[in-house]
Amino acid sequence: YTSVHLKERPTDAIIAGKTFESKQQSLPSASSLKDGEVLFQTLYLSLDPAMRGWLNPTRSYIPPVKIGAVMRGSGIGLIVASKSKKFPVGTYASGMCGWSEYAVLPEKEVELLDLPHGAVPTDALGCLGMTGLTAYFGITEVGQVKAGDFVVVSGAAGATGSVVGQIAKLKGATVLGLAGEDSKVAWLKEELGFDEALNYKDPQFKDKFRAATKGLIDVYFDNVGGEILDMALARAKPFARFVMCGAISEYNNKKAQGPSNYLMIISMRIRMQGFIVFDYADKYAAARKELAQWLLEGKLKRKETIIKGGITNAESALVGLFEGKNSGKTLVEVAKP
Ligand code: NDP
Repeated sequence: YTSVHLKERPTDAIIAGKTFESKQQSLPSASSLKDGEVLFQTLYLSLDPAMRGWLNPTRSYIPPVKIGAVMRGSGIGLIVASKSKKFPVGTYASGMCGWSEYAVLPEKEVELLDLPHGAVPTDALGCLGMTGLTAYFGITEVGQVKAGDFVVVSGAAGATGSVVGQIAKLKGATVLGLAGEDSKVAWLKEELGFDEALNYKDPQFKDKFRAATKGLIDVYFDNVGGEILDMALARAKPFARFVMCGAISEYNNKKAQGPSNYLMIISMRIRMQGFIVFDYADKYAAARKELAQWLLEGKLKRKETIIKGGITNAESALVGLFEGKNSGKTLVEVAKP
């Protein structure tokens, strides 16, 4: 079977054929599994901008991927051999399978795919998985969104941003979304019910952003950092909440740039808070329940970008996130269920 390994740490963008390499491995036999282990066949792999950060040899919320190791990643799959009572052969599950067609995983790293009514299996990696939970806790707990707030979300047509805006609407906020394509802008306004959306690549974007934020921002949910963060700081209301979720515009830079407009944090008494979704693990179940209910009622809509052609396409799919090739959640179909 094929697995994809980190070959060389990139200093800026991931370079196809240089950063990762694929290897052929022989499938472990069922008898070689230890007690509590399962053999997981990956069906869908989640692609996340954070993966770029995991390639840097720096201190972070999670250790870097080691050179030569299978690239880290989460997926959904099928248990094809098992020495675990909890996960018999034939069970569908999610787990940290890495960029690999098969993985031997300890049962504590595997979770049963418990799909609520109205969900599709890949939702476990998207709107009911890590990105949905990030949106949920980011906008409710960190952003403390409330009715009447004016919320601006960057990366708004992506997996996280699209859910953030919809939750903010459900909570009674007015929402402006920012995305990099006119078709994404149309999707946000026409299908997801955002009050306004702008294409940040539009030559008139700065003027349009100023006009759209004349009432000033209560909550800014940041997925991208960079210049857009500076523009949002310039339009912050006193005591605005800045939810620092991600900064994809800076991930490829050796030295990420902070905002140059940072004095606004002081003058406007902004509360700017970073967060990592793992901090809310003890509340995942309750959040998933609420997200699933919204999904079932049609109040939460989702889109997926599924890259076909197997695990060796994970690299280009990851690069694609940095080029805005996706709408909604990006997945690689590793094997057909
Ligand atoms: P997305 O589905 O949002 O994909 C990334 C999107 O970012 C692209 O579709 C692209 O859309 C946009 N983008 C790419 N480059 C730039 C750029 N230079 N400037 C502005 N926008 C850009 O990914 P996720 O939903 O998985 O992740 C969104 C953010 O949330 C990331 O920053 C990620 O690291 C962060 N995150 C944080 C977590 C946490 O616990 N704190 C957990 C999960 C994600 P466009 O066409 O609009 O440019």
